[in-house]
This record gives sequence, structure tokens and C-alpha cells, in this order.
Amino acid sequence: MGAKIIDGKAVADEVRAELVRALEELRAAGAEPGIATLMVGEDFGAGMYRGAVEKFCGELGLGYRSEALPADATEEAVVATVKSLNADAAVSGILPLRPFPAHVSDSVVIDSIDPDKDVDCFHPSNMGRLTLGEPTFPPATPAACMELLERYLRSEGRDVTDTLEGAEVCVVGHSNTVGKPLALLLLNRNATTTVTHVYTSNRGNLAKHTRLADYLVVAAGVPQLITGDLVKEGAVVLDVGINRVVVCPVCGTLNRSKKNPCKQCGADLSEAQNKTVGDVDFEPVAAKAAALTPVPGGVGAVTNMMLARNTLRAARLQLERK
Ligand code: NAD
Repeated sequence: MGAKIIDGKAVADEVRAELVRALEELRAAGAEPGIATLMVGEDFGAGMYRGAVEKFCGELGLGYRSEALPADATEEAVVATVKSLNADAAVSGILPLRPFPAHVSDSVVIDSIDPDKDVDCFHPSNMGRLTLGEPTFPPATPAACMELLERYLRSEGRDVTDTLEGAEVCVVGHSNTVGKPLALLLLNRNATTTVTHVYTSNRGNLAKHTRLADYLVVAAGVPQLITGDLVKEGAVVLDVGINRVVVCPVCGTLNRSKKNPCKQCGADLSEAQNKTVGDVDFEPVAAKAAALTPVPGGVGAVTNMMLARNTLRAARLQLERK
């Protein structure tokens, strides 16, 4: 294995220490920053995320409020809750936890969030600012990628601006929450940014783009999508994917479910172990890349700290506007 493994937990610890100092300064200036999560109905993933937000708020000493509406709450009731959070001085940042039930429109709820409290950059006005190169709240996961990349480059003694200008970067995934805003953050650093997605793969063109990349960021949600032959020798690879898989006890193949036999050898998987993996086939890519983020312990470890950083920015903004 040749790659340097970029330690997301260590970066998260460094950022946390910076945030603790910034929080003390904000408190001294009279602010009391806090996050409110907004959940409608029950969803396992959203519930897990809510737990993680509550935990890091507790660890950092940030205020935390959980707003949870029943699955049959009307869209008007959800918007009314957002408006009450907009008006609440104890809430610096509002985090809608999706999915919402089908009758509650994502865009109606997001449009009702005060853009100055939109700490994960969902609101069109903040996405617009990001597009214009003036991000107020860079969205948490793409910001985590940039933070890891920039700290890695500095640790190698390289100038971040010079290195990224004109660099060949390939983003795999074009979702509104990860791939697209990440591509914008990279474009804002003047990287030559190629965005690929499932339709690139469907045409058999993924490898053509990924093999050119000196910096490859993968956010597809497909285990082992990026095999060793898709990566350029010496590339820096950031793996955003988080996939829960089942490892076949006989042949080691990663499967999606315990319910079916192993897709490779047909073994029974009912007693098999679960594992969390990214989108990168770790060992073969680590053998070729210069640096690689692990899963878990890579991008995901830093994401929450970016959300906390945005919440402090929001609190500062609200203090200035008082
Ligand atoms: P999404 O499902 O909204 O988007 C997936 C993207 O991947 C799409 O652009 C799609 O076109 C592309 N894609 C799918 N299959 C592909 C293929 N075969 N080849 C090329 N591209 C393909 O997902 P998302 O919300 O953007 O999340 C992506 C992954 O990142 C997921 O695994 C998710 O769990 C993870 N994630 C991690 C963090 C973190 O903090 N580390 C945060 C958010 C999401």
C-alpha cells in the first residue's frame, strides 16, 4: 500500500479545537450559537443524522433544539415551524433533515428558511452565492472535502492556491448536496473540474475521465465503483461514499443484503457481518494513489465540524446585524 491515508478524525479534532476558541470569542461578544434540526415523520437515516448533530453540539457546547413533526403534519405546519425558528434568536442555524413525507415539498420548506440561518446551503440564494464564488455557508460535505484536500496539500508543503489552479480534478456524482456544490467549490479555486455521474458510466465513459484526474473525489453511493484501474498513478483520492454492505464469509464479496445468497459464490449470508465502506475499492486504489481518505474516518468525520463552523458563521452574521 503506497498511499498516505488521510486521517479525517485527526483533521476533525484540529477543526474542533479551532471552533472551541471561536465559540468562546462569540460568547464573549454576546452570542449564544445553536442549531435546530427539523424532522417530519420518521426516517432511519434522518434519525441517525439528528443523533449525530445532537452529539457534536453537546461536545462543542453549541445549543441544540430538535423540532419533530408527525408524518401527517401539513406543509403549512412545517413552514410555520421554520418561520418560528427563523424568528428565534437562540437558533443560529436550521437544518432540515430529509426525506420529508411526499406531501411536504422540499423546495417550499427550504425556501422558507432564513438564508442567514441556512447552515448547510440548501436555500437557492446561498446556492446562487456559491455559484458566483461568494459562498456564505459552503455546504458541509463538499466543505469537508475541501478542508481535507487543503490540509493534505499544506502538510505536503504545497501552496493550495497554486496547486489547485488548473489542476485536473474529477468529481464522480452530481447530486445537489454533494457533487454539484463540490464542483463549484473546486471551480472557484480555478481547478479544471470534470463532473461525471451515472450517465457517464452508462455510456462506458467513467474511466476515461477518472484516469486523467490528479484529484479524484467520489460521491456516488456505489461500493467498489472506483477500482484500481480507474485511478491515475499518484492521484489524491477522496472517498465520500458511505455504503452499508454485507461481507460474504466464504469469498469476501460485498453484497447489499443478507436476504439473498452471495452474488459471487452463492453462499448463505444470513449470519454474515455488516460493514461500512466507501465507493473506492480501498486496497488496489491505495496501492496506486498518493493519498486516500478511508471510510469510515475520512470525509464523514469532518462533515459535522463544517456544519458547526457554518453555525458559528451564522451566529456572527446575526450578531453583526443586531
Ligand atoms: P445521490 O444518490 O443523491 O447522488 C449519487 C450521485 O452518484 C448521482 O449524481 C449519480 O448520478 C451518481 N452515480 C450513481 N451511480 C453511479 C455510477 N455507477 N457511476 C457514476 N456515478 C454514479 O447521493 P449523494 O447524496 O450525493 O451521496 C453520495 C454518497 O455520499 C452516498 O454514499 C452518501 O451516503 C455519501 N454521503 C456522505 C457524506 C459524508 O459526510 N461523508 C455526506 C453526504 C453523502
